[in-house]
Amino acid sequence: MVDEKQVSEIVKNVLAGMDLSVLDNAPKRKQLGVFDTMDEAIAACNKAYATFRHYNKEQRENIINEIRKLTHAEAEIMAKLAVEDTKMGNVYHKILKHHLVADKTLGTSDLETRALAGDRGLTLIEMAPFGIIGAITPSTNPSCTIICNSICMLAGGNGVLFNPHPHAKRISAYAVDLVNRAVLAAGGPENIVATVANPTMETSNKMVNDPSVRMLVATGGPGVVKMLLSSGKKAIGAGAGNPPVVVDDTADIPKAAKDIIDGCTFDNNLPCIAEKEVFVLRNVADELIHHMLKNGAYMINDAQVKQLEDVVLVWTKPKKEGDKPKRVINKDWVGRDAKKILAQIGINAKEDVRCIICETEFSQAFVQTELMMPILPIVRVDTFDEAVEMAVKAEHGNRHSAHLHSKNVDHMTQYAKAICTTIFVKNAPSYAGIGFNAEGWTTFTIAGPTGEGITSPRSFTRIRRCVLSDALNII
Ligand code: NAD
Repeated sequence: MVDEKQVSEIVKNVLAGMDLSVLDNAPKRKQLGVFDTMDEAIAACNKAYATFRHYNKEQRENIINEIRKLTHAEAEIMAKLAVEDTKMGNVYHKILKHHLVADKTLGTSDLETRALAGDRGLTLIEMAPFGIIGAITPSTNPSCTIICNSICMLAGGNGVLFNPHPHAKRISAYAVDLVNRAVLAAGGPENIVATVANPTMETSNKMVNDPSVRMLVATGGPGVVKMLLSSGKKAIGAGAGNPPVVVDDTADIPKAAKDIIDGCTFDNNLPCIAEKEVFVLRNVADELIHHMLKNGAYMINDAQVKQLEDVVLVWTKPKKEGDKPKRVINKDWVGRDAKKILAQIGINAKEDVRCIICETEFSQAFVQTELMMPILPIVRVDTFDEAVEMAVKAEHGNRHSAHLHSKNVDHMTQYAKAICTTIFVKNAPSYAGIGFNAEGWTTFTIAGPTGEGITSPRSFTRIRRCVLSDALNII
């Protein structure tokens, strides 16, 4: 139970925290769960876990309900802070993302007990906590990932340490503070979710290697997933994608065009599930492009594509002799508005331009690279088989997400079997794959490499068996 004095202290702190309308006005109080060093964060989380490990599902669910409430209440603040902190994304879409997390992340109802009763007694199979989980979170969906992970991991009975992306450290600290305020309001222990104010590779290594951290979760690019999977601990990897979308000639083309632009431009293409390249049958390509243009797309020509390549891609320096330089994304342009990107190549587009489209060859860099920008290359194909073959190659074996616009069930089956992605959306924007305007729960940690898929509380539990021999088999 929280006593009156404690409640009024919390309310005072919350009000002080709400004062930070923008990042320039620094928070006027120390944020809860945010520490100067990872050692302090680890010690505090361990202390909290000693209490929290005895919490039953009802107590955990009470905490989760408070997190949902605060996330709804502060969605707008967090959306603004996230854009200010990271310089990426779209405030309105980020507000929607926070409400989605609050509404559709699963809680303790996801945990199932199995009971096997028979001649030799009763065996229970339970989803138990791991203990303390170390989670690395991305710059692209910083607060949504922290809140979604916190709900799932606390539902599973775990404590959580976060090492957020350094480029999103302020919004990430805000999200950790919000979760802690919710925990306290529900009478839970302080610091069951903890982080550091200045996350670095060093704080990440400390977290990964601390013996009290029993499970690791990486949401990010290939580097961080590989690092955690080589740690020797149980790890969940939610890595990069490059989702292709295929459009065949049975599709409702005006709807397909709108859905693709809506999905591709959601939060300026930051979500890992968002449409990144299109393969369209030649006989409907013109119509598709026509309707994309009606839905806020701006078409650039071949010469402008070349110019844009020099803006949004950069050459890496070879690390050792013999290495060839590679073209990778210029992070300065990730998640930026289409209008601002167009201005870089001298195009003064209208305010309502949402997406840059271009026709390219399959081998063109925009098709092959996960840009995370509202830039959508379109490749014309002669047959559905060719579209599927190219989509599989462009997805690069990430097994992340793929999308299709078609009314042909055989095509749906053929593409799904060939591409093997965790998420496969048909006839909707990509965000339907995480439950937005669609059936199913949400997550911001889609674990393709390690196979947990659309993560939920059960993903963060360990299975334990409890056997009672020759008793309680009551029939
Ligand atoms: P990123 O890989 O740059 O960073 C992720 C986090 O890992 C950050 O905290 C970063 O500091 C840290 N990091 C990176 N390399 C590391 C290493 N070797 N050791 C320790 N820590 C390391 O990712 P980002 O730019 O923030 O996010 C974009 C990427 O994440 C995209 O590839 C996107 O597809 C992917 N992503 C995947 C999912 C998913 O659910 N599968 C969700 C969001 C983002």
